Parts: sequence; structure tokens; C-alpha cells
Amino acid sequence: MHEAPQQTASPRILLTEPCEEAMPDKLTPEARSAHMGRIKRANTKPELIIRKVLHGLGYRFRLQWKGAPGRPDIAFTSRRKVIFVHGCFWHQHEGCRLAHVPETRRSFWQAKFDRNRARDARDFARCREEGWEPIIIWECETKDRSALARRLQAFLGATKFRGPVILDLVSGLGRGHDRNQPNGVG
Ligand SMILES: [Zn+2]
Repeated sequence: MHEAPQQTASPRILLTEPCEEAMPDKLTPEARSAHMGRIKRANTKPELIIRKVLHGLGYRFRLQWKGAPGRPDIAFTSRRKVIFVHGCFWHQHEGCRLAHVPETRRSFWQAKFDRNRARDARDFARCREEGWEPIIIWECETKDRSALARRLQAFLGATKFRGPVILDLVSGLGRGHDRNQPNGVG
């Protein structure tokens, strides 16, 4: 039986708050690649904060939306807008103090990060091609909730009460969005 090991948690891993996504050095390579398989983790702390702020502002949204490329974390289907919530470490937020490269196995990490970033860029571009307007909200941007609220409002525009629930149910039809491209129905 493993007694809960006295893990001398390396202090550099202890970011400001233990975030589910921020667990670099401790994992075995296997656990790590399982963990990072698709990086997508629902219900990370930054995500929960964003959802809470959105609720407070009166927006309705969907989670892990498969109808747009890259399965955005949060989707506003009638507005045709999507949010990718990115952990600063895994997605290497440029210039962010949370985005250090671990000291051990640097080339492994660097390759991993490069792939993540390439995929992020590709998802973003594909969203645009399919008529979705994407933004990234970084983990560190969720610390200041009023700034976050302003950013979300600027991105989404005013909430509208147009026959409340029904619009969301017929998602995608809500807004007469003219789009010629075949859109991924899925
Ligand atoms: Zn950051």
C-alpha cells in the first residue's frame, strides 16, 4: 500500500492556486501523456470562473461544443462565437509567469508545447473558416473578475432577451448568419 507519500512538492509547481492543469514535473511520462492526451480538461478552475461570470452577466452558452473545430470550451451558438480557455502553462502563454518551461527534459516539453501551439493556431483558423468568431481567454486573465467581465461583454455584446429559452434551443438558427461555407454539422 502506498501511504500517501510525503511529497516534497517542488515549490516551483505551486503556482498561485493549484489548478488542475498545472501539474508539470510530478507525473511519470506515461501518466503525463495520458493526462495530456487531449489536454482538454473540462471544469478547470479558470473555466469555472468564466462560466460563473458569464452566468452573472446573463449569457447562455454551451460547453465543450463539438459543432466547432477544436471543440471550444464555451460556445455561444446563436452568436456564433466561441471561447477557448487556455491554461498558461500547457498552452505557453507568451510572456506569462505561469508559462515556464520545466527544467528537466526541456526538449520533450518544448516539442510538446510546440505541438499544442500549432494545434491551437489551427483550431482557431478553422473556427474562423467555418464562421465562428473565436477568442482565447488565458488562465491568468481569470484572476481579475471585473476585467474578465468587461472582456467577455466586449466580445459577446449585450445580452438580449428575445423569447428567452427558445433561441438557445434552436441553436445556430437564432441569428440569421449568412455563411456560404458548408458548416460542420456535427
Ligand atoms: Zn497567462
